[in-house]
Amino acid sequence: MFLDTRVLRHLTAEDWKVLAAVEMGSKNHELVPTPLIERMSRLKGGVSGVHRSIATLAKSGLIGRMKEAKYDGYRLTYGGLDYLALHTHSSKDVVYSVGSRVGVGKESDIMIVADKTGKQKILKIHRLGRISFRTVKSNRDYLRNKQGGSWMYLSRLAAMKEYAFMQALQEEGFPVPEPINQSRHTIVMSLVESLPLRQVSSVPDPASLYAELIDLILRLAKHGLIHGDFNEFNILIKEERTNKYTIEDGEEKETETVTLVPIIIDFPQMVSMDHVNAEMYFDRDVECIKRFFKKRFHFVPTQPGPFFKDAKKTVGKDGAKRLDAAVEASGFTKKMLKELEKAIQEQQAKIDAGEAVEEDELDEDEDEEDDNEDDSDDEEDEEDQQEEEEQAVFEIPASVGRPLS
Ligand code: ADP
Ligand code: MG
Repeated sequence: MFLDTRVLRHLTAEDWKVLAAVEMGSKNHELVPTPLIERMSRLKGGVSGVHRSIATLAKSGLIGRMKEAKYDGYRLTYGGLDYLALHTHSSKDVVYSVGSRVGVGKESDIMIVADKTGKQKILKIHRLGRISFRTVKSNRDYLRNKQGGSWMYLSRLAAMKEYAFMQALQEEGFPVPEPINQSRHTIVMSLVESLPLRQVSSVPDPASLYAELIDLILRLAKHGLIHGDFNEFNILIKEERTNKYTIEDGEEKETETVTLVPIIIDFPQMVSMDHVNAEMYFDRDVECIKRFFKKRFHFVPTQPGPFFKDAKKTVGKDGAKRLDAAVEASGFTKKMLKELEKAIQEQQAKIDAGEAVEEDELDEDEDEEDDNEDDSDDEEDEEDQQEEEEQAVFEIPASVGRPLS
C-alpha cells in the first residue's frame, strides 16, 4: 500500500467536496451514510452530482464500502486521506509534485516531493494502525475502534505530535529537519542530504561523533525530553563542507573542511523526563548508541553512563525551556499522548514478536477475515526487508573531518 497519485489531477472540485464530506462524516461514523454524504457535500447540482463523484472516488479507491454493512454508506480509505492531505499541501504551495518513495517503515511512508520551484522536500505519511494482527483479535478491535483508537485518528495524532516536537526542537536550535507543514496524518519537512548512520561503515573519529550523540541525549533531557528511539536509522549524518581561503607564498589557497553533523529525526514516540518509565527509555537510548558504536566502529567509551539520575537533575536548568510541557500546552492532552503511546507500543511489540502482518483491508472494498486474499503487500514487505539487508554501506573517507589537501 503506497501513495498512488495518478488520479489526483483528474478529480474535479465536486469530487473534492464529496471526499471532504466523507472525511467529515468519518468523525462520527465508521461508515458514513450516503444521505449524510449527500447533505454535507452541498453540491449545487444536487444528488446526482454527488453520486457521480461517489462513483469516481470509489473506483479510485479513495472511499470504500464495507461488506455486510447494515446500511448504505462509505468510509475514507488511507488513499482518500492521503489525497486530502496532499490537496491541502498543494493548495498552500508546499507540494507540487510527488516523487519516489525513499523509505517505508512499519509506521510510515517517506516520499520525496517538490514544490513549484523544484525544491525537494520530504513528505512523511504516518501509517499507525496499518498493521493488523490477525492472531490478536482484541488488538485489531482496538485499532479499529470508532472513536479513540481508529487508524485515522492515531496516524493524525502521530503526525501532530511529531510536527509539534520538530518545531519546538528547531526553535531551541536542535539539529532536526525544518518542519514545513502538517496536514492530517502527514508532515512536510526539509530534505536532509545525508545518510542514515546505519549506512555509514566508518568515520574518521568515532569518539567525537559518539560524544556528540550523547551530548544530544543530554541536551534533550535538559529540555525535559527523551527521544525514545534514538537508533542508527533515526540519526542522519550530513557532511558539511566549508571552504577557507588563505594566502600562502603570495598565492591564494583553498582548503575544504568536511564536518559530520548528526541530524535527528522521527519523534512520535518522544517521552517526557517525568514519564513513569523515563529511566528505561533514557537508558535504552544510551545503550542503543553504545551498542551500535561497538559493533560498527569498534568503539567503546572509557567512561560509564551517562545516567538517568544525573540527567534528571539538569531538567530545566540554566533556563532550558521544558519542551515536554510546551508541547502539552500546545493542545496535546495527556489523554492523546497516552492513546498514541499505547498504539505505538502495541504496534512495536507485535513487530518485535514477528506477528504483524501488513494490513490491506483499509483500502479494500470489504471487510476481510480470510488469509488467502491478495498478499502482494506482504511480498512487497519481504522485498523491502531484503533490500534493506543488501543496502550498501558507505564509507566516509578518513579525509573527512580534516582539510582535504
Ligand atoms: P519511521 O517512523 O517509519 O521510522 P522516519 O522518520 O524515521 O520514519 O524516516 C524513515 C527513513 O526515511 C529515515 O531512516 C531516513 O532514511 C529517511 N528520512 C526521513 N526523514 C528524512 C529527511 N527529512 N531527510 C532525509 N531523509 C529522511
Ligand atoms: Mg525511524
